[in-house]
Amino acid sequence: MKDWHKKYDIREGTYSSDFRMCNPFDGSRGDTYTDVEQSWTNLMPHESLFEIYDTLSHEAEHVALKRENMTDEIEHMILRRLHQVLYGIIDL
Ligand SMILES: [Zn+2]
Repeated sequence: MKDWHKKYDIREGTYSSDFRMCNPFDGSRGDTYTDVEQSWTNLMPHESLFEIYDTLSHEAEHVALKRENMTDEIEHMILRRLHQVLYGIIDL
């Protein structure tokens, strides 16, 4: 069994997320600000509370990865891989 605690450290931050009822200029479900540890979730494009929770988690994961200075495409590739592992689709 791998000892993950020896390889990775837990970092603390001041992350926060806001809700918007609708954003007429952007139809996305949510986004992450590039200069601060903050995101927003646009409520209108969601159909359930589960979808809102999923967007909140997704944006929080983006904030965590932003610290590593990588592109949005690489972040999404890592997030897809992370979720495949978490849901048991692939093994590490
Ligand atoms: Zn994303």
